[in-house]
Amino acid sequence: MNKSITLVKRPVGMPTLNDFLIVENKIPTIRDGEILIKTTYLSVDPFMRGKMRDRESYTPPYQLNKPIDCSGIGEVIESKNSNFQVGDVVSAVMSWSEYNVGTDLTVRKLNHELPYTTAQGILGMTGRTAYFGLLYKGQPKEGETIVISGAAGAVGSVVGQIAKLKGFRVVGICGSDEKGQYLINELGFDAVVNYKTENIRKALKHHCPNGIDIYFDNVGGDITDQVVSLINFGARIVICGAISEYNSAEVSVGPRLFPTLLNKSASAHGFIVNDFDQLRSEADNQLREWVLQGKIKSKETIIEGFENTVPAFLSLFEGGNVGKLLVKVN
Ligand code: NAP
Repeated sequence: MNKSITLVKRPVGMPTLNDFLIVENKIPTIRDGEILIKTTYLSVDPFMRGKMRDRESYTPPYQLNKPIDCSGIGEVIESKNSNFQVGDVVSAVMSWSEYNVGTDLTVRKLNHELPYTTAQGILGMTGRTAYFGLLYKGQPKEGETIVISGAAGAVGSVVGQIAKLKGFRVVGICGSDEKGQYLINELGFDAVVNYKTENIRKALKHHCPNGIDIYFDNVGGDITDQVVSLINFGARIVICGAISEYNSAEVSVGPRLFPTLLNKSASAHGFIVNDFDQLRSEADNQLREWVLQGKIKSKETIIEGFENTVPAFLSLFEGGNVGKLLVKVN
C-alpha cells in the first residue's frame, strides 16, 4: 500500500496535526512514458503554508482530501520510460506520498557527485532562490553591507555564503545563539543578531557601522520594520519571504514603509524564484561549482520517518531547522 498525507481542513492560524490525515491507497500503476518512484526524501517548505489557503496566488491552492504536492528525492523501482532505469535516483515533483509517479517533465536524474539531498537544498529551489535574489534583485556593489533575516535557514544561509564569497559585510538575523554561532564559525558571517533576545535595532546599528545597503528579507513583520528603519540611501530590499506572517489570520499592520523608501531613494523588489526559470542552468552550474570547490557549504536538517512529515513542516514556524529541512522516508 501507498501512504499519503492529505489536507483535510484549511488551517486558520498555525496549522495543527488535525488539519492533515495519513491515508492508504494502492501503489499507483504506471503507463507508457512513466516511472514509479519510491520516495526517500520529502521536502517541507514555508511556501506550502500559502497553498493551504483557498486563495489566488502564483501557485494554485492545495485541494482538500488530495495528497499534498511537494518535491523530493526517490529511487526508480519500475520504469516504462527508456530515459530511466530501475535503481536510478531522481529529484522530482512529488506529493507527500511513499510512492510517486514521474515523467520526463517532472523528474531529473541525479548522479553520485554530491549527496543526493543537496538536490533539494543548495542545488535545488532554495539555493536558486538565494542566488537569483541576492545577485539579480539585490544588485550588490563592492564594499556593501547586507543584512539577512531567516539567516540560518535554507535560503538565508546560502545568501550569506554567496555574499561572503563576493566580499561583502554580512550580518544575519536568526532565532537562537546556537544558530548564530553556526553562521559565524561555520559559514563566515561577520555578525549575527538573535531576534528573540536582543534589541534588533540597537544590535544592527552596532554591527552595521556603515549602515545597511541590502536587506534580504525572509521573514517580514516586526523584524523587517526595524531593519528598514536603518537602510542607507540607495538601499535595495529583496522581498523573498514573510514567514512571520504566514499563519496570521488577519492582514498584519505595521509602520508604512514607503516614506522611508522615498527618503532613502531605496527600492523594494518582490520576486518568485520561477521568474528566473530561463536562467536556471546558470545558478545550478555556479552553485554546484562552488559546493564542489568547498567555497560554500551545504547543510540539511533531516527528520526521520514519513509519519513525521507534518510535525517537520510545523517545526519550520518554530525555528526547528538549520539549512534545508527534509524528511527521510525510508
Ligand atoms: P527556512 O528559513 O529554512 O525555515 C524557516 C525559518 O524561518 C525557521 O527555521 C525560523 O528560523 C524562521 N522563522 C520562523 N518563524 C519566524 C518568525 N515568526 N520570525 C522570524 N523568523 C521565523 O525556510 P526557507 O525555505 O529557507 O524559506 C525562507 C523564506 O523564503 C520563507 O519566507 C519562504 O517562504 C521564502 N521563499 C521564497 C521563495 C521565492 O521564490 N520568493 C523561494 C523559497 C523560499 P529562526 O530560528 O531563525 O526563527
